[in-house]
Amino acid sequence: TRTINLKNRPTGKPELTDFDFSTSVIPELKEGELLLSTKYVSVDPYLRGRMSDAPSYIPPFELNKPIASGVVAEVLESKNSKFSKGDHVLGMMEWKETQVAKADGLIKVDPDKAPLSAYLGVLGMTGLTAYLGLTEIGKPKKGETLLVSGAAGAVGSVVGQIGKILGLRVVGIAGTDEKVEMIKSEFGFDEGINYNSTENMIEAIAKACPDGVDVYFDNVGGEISDAVLFNINKFSRTINCGAISVYNNTEQPKSISVQPFLVKKSASMQGFVVFDYADKHPQGIMQLAEWLGQGKLHHTETIREGFENIPQAFLDLFEGKNKGKMVVKI
Ligand code: NDP
Repeated sequence: TRTINLKNRPTGKPELTDFDFSTSVIPELKEGELLLSTKYVSVDPYLRGRMSDAPSYIPPFELNKPIASGVVAEVLESKNSKFSKGDHVLGMMEWKETQVAKADGLIKVDPDKAPLSAYLGVLGMTGLTAYLGLTEIGKPKKGETLLVSGAAGAVGSVVGQIGKILGLRVVGIAGTDEKVEMIKSEFGFDEGINYNSTENMIEAIAKACPDGVDVYFDNVGGEISDAVLFNINKFSRTINCGAISVYNNTEQPKSISVQPFLVKKSASMQGFVVFDYADKHPQGIMQLAEWLGQGKLHHTETIREGFENIPQAFLDLFEGKNKGKMVVKI
């Protein structure tokens, strides 16, 4: 079976040459294990962190070993009484076309309840990130202004929609006019800013958020987030969810000092890692599934096809080539 391994630890922007393909023989199935055929693979910005060996909240990938991410797979053979042939499972799995896996850590997913790819997005890690980051850290109140960066992406598009469900005024920042149009027409954002065609982000945010920013859901960091600081309100809350604009930096970026802004406004900023809120995941999934079922939440995906295209799909996240969740169908 084909496997995708980490060949080099990238410096700066990752490239196709940082990955390589190998073939391996599928081992014999032992008691308790499953033989799985990969159906959908999630590519995520956080995998960039695992490609480097700097300390982080998850250990780095090993060189010349398979990369792993969220995968939905079909059970081809089972030696575990909890799963049967034909079931679909979700879990962290290696980038292999076919693999043998232990069943612990895998959960059964139902293709009749939601499309299989949704379990990697709105009903999976990115949906939970949006929901728990916004509600647990953002503590939004009806009528407040929510600003979301990375607004047309997997997490951001769900954050904005939840903001609308909770009665907030929602403004999004994204990289193209088409994306700005999409977040307004498809996801109900009140206003949008294309950061690539905007000279003065401080002014653009002030204009789009005339009452200031009460909750800032930050997916990108860097200069965009610096500009937000000039527009935060008293007692505002910032959710530091991600910083994709600096993931490929080779030097520490020159950033403005955030402390005076926070002091002046009695404002707060808090980091958020979805895995640290595992006890709230079941309730989160139930809430997201309910909103999805009621048609209050829409999910958009960019689906690439073919096992060999997984690395390119990952690289394209850094070029903004996805709308909503980027997944690869095998
Ligand atoms: P997205 O679907 O949002 O894809 C990434 C998007 O980032 C691109 O589409 C692109 O959109 C934007 N982007 C790329 N480069 C830049 C840049 N230099 N400046 C500004 N925007 C850029 O990915 P996810 O929704 O999966 O992840 C969003 C963020 O959330 C990431 O930072 C990720 O690391 C983080 N995350 C954090 C988790 C946690 O537990 N803390 C869990 C999951 C995700 P555009 O065209 O608008 O530039």
